[in-house]
Amino acid sequence: MKNAVYYTITPKDLAAHLFEVTLTVDKPDPVGQVFSLPAWIPGSYMIREFARNIVRIGASSGDARIALKKRDKHTWQAEPCKGPLVLTYEVYAWDLSVRAAHLDQTHGFFNGTSVFLSVHEQDNLRHVVDIRPPEGEVFKAWRVATALPELKAKRYGFGTYVAANYDELIDHPVEMGTFDLATFKAHGVTHDIVLTGRVPNLDMARLAADLKKICEEQIILFEPKSRCAPMNRYVFMTLAVGDGYGGLEHRASTALVCSRSDLPVKGQKGMSDGYRTYLGLCSHEYFHTWNVKRIKPAAFAPYDLRTEGYTSLLWLFEGFTSYYDDLMLVRSGVIDETAYFKLLAKTINGVLRRSGRTKQSVAESSFDAWTKYYRQDENSPNAIVSYYTKGSLVGLALDLTIRTETRGRKSLDDVMRALWQRYGRDFYSDNGGVGVAEADVERLFDEITGLKLKRFFDRYVRGTDDLPLARLLTPFGVEVADKHKDGKEAKASLNVRTTRDGNDCKLANVYEGGAAHRAGLSAGDILVAMDGVRVTASNLDNLLSRYRIDDAVTVHAFRRDELMVFSATLATDDAPQMSLTGHAKPAAHARQRAAWLGTKTA
Ligand SMILES: [Zn+2]
Repeated sequence: MKNAVYYTITPKDLAAHLFEVTLTVDKPDPVGQVFSLPAWIPGSYMIREFARNIVRIGASSGDARIALKKRDKHTWQAEPCKGPLVLTYEVYAWDLSVRAAHLDQTHGFFNGTSVFLSVHEQDNLRHVVDIRPPEGEVFKAWRVATALPELKAKRYGFGTYVAANYDELIDHPVEMGTFDLATFKAHGVTHDIVLTGRVPNLDMARLAADLKKICEEQIILFEPKSRCAPMNRYVFMTLAVGDGYGGLEHRASTALVCSRSDLPVKGQKGMSDGYRTYLGLCSHEYFHTWNVKRIKPAAFAPYDLRTEGYTSLLWLFEGFTSYYDDLMLVRSGVIDETAYFKLLAKTINGVLRRSGRTKQSVAESSFDAWTKYYRQDENSPNAIVSYYTKGSLVGLALDLTIRTETRGRKSLDDVMRALWQRYGRDFYSDNGGVGVAEADVERLFDEITGLKLKRFFDRYVRGTDDLPLARLLTPFGVEVADKHKDGKEAKASLNVRTTRDGNDCKLANVYEGGAAHRAGLSAGDILVAMDGVRVTASNLDNLLSRYRIDDAVTVHAFRRDELMVFSATLATDDAPQMSLTGHAKPAAHARQRAAWLGTKTA
């Protein structure tokens, strides 16, 4: 085959966690071919400098050794040569997350961003990769799972796979090993569930049945008439560990990490919190197949993977995805309305807990994702707002506003479909590839809904006002109660979040304006005693339960290794405790709610 970039990747030393990669360029740049590895992976907005895991690298052409010069932290240039030019390098793969690469005797996993150097000026050629098995009899049973199209490989087999360009190559992570596999169809499209890790008595059939409902609901949302999915196959790859949570979206697959205990056990009835969380994660990453992998902010079309890509729109791409992930669970019937309202209340309480929401808008939070949201510290609750959680509430508030003000004729679904039709559907076709400009979003909302939403955007997207959810939910027969305001559950508190540090109680966050803040305590302090009684990792709530609001207490704490004494006046535990309840009457409100949640009226 002509005009292609060729790679081989081999799990070479499993105990040392090394992949060996070769890269062949038929026609290298005559002035010296430049290669580089991305500094970040799409979907995770943090500079990670994957090239630091390249252990050894060399180049040759025919029998001749070709010198490589390092140009910067992730770029190399070969001395001029005729070609074909072959690069050989090793990649250290020992990051047990969805963002990089991992290899040992149990399995191999990689994202292309961690292992495939890009060949400058040849990004648009076909990219062919030969995925090879590790050597040894014991690995004979290993298989391959990826949404990368096969060239000369059987499905789930080692062999050659092909991508239309570099961008596609690095958007299909690869799992290899002896994973569990289940397959289902969603509106005619094959979906694989690939599971790595030891999970006794896993109920794969239930998992497949639940995911099928969620996937079909999403396909119908975007393409209600044709029911056409945006990809011709899809892979959910999950690594189950003792304790973990995370996911990363790709155009035809997702890589997930979850806790073993979140996965359903054969014969188990009902919906555990953990399983609901896992399905919510799957739903979230699947929704990204449309929203961010095809409908994209202009800043990501195309991605510049050498440096930060700034966009003020993550409240839409992550926030709306977070709004729809749980909404799709209730619309598909996987959870009921009561469970959905519990999830919503949790999000609302989480947003209200942080005073950072009064200082940073979701537009600013999006723009500064690289240095703030992705690099949180002990002061983050007092300084920033999450474009995920508050962004999901912006989505909810817009949906409710549109439904109410258009008397149910329009909804956020119509706006998502318009975004899909104009930007997403043809994104990967030859004449596609246009992203959503920041100014287009508000215009599109006004056009599709017929409303004037500038004031909404000013206050809740560009501004820091709290969303008026109690008022917006009323026409849907949903009552928002604040237990905290009722005073029924008011407890005396230091207004902190603590963590266990050995057997010590450490202050993880000191909430601005709270009792601990006013007393002079700081995040990082180790609480030693309260009124002369020892504080341990597990007894603070118990000790506090003997006090009333406004009681004065003496607190001993270590800051570094120095003992300090503080006088604190205990305050109300001001953690918000909103709860949501749906009412059957008035019937008109219940009907509105059923239309929104896709449920049946009683
Ligand atoms: Zn996301």
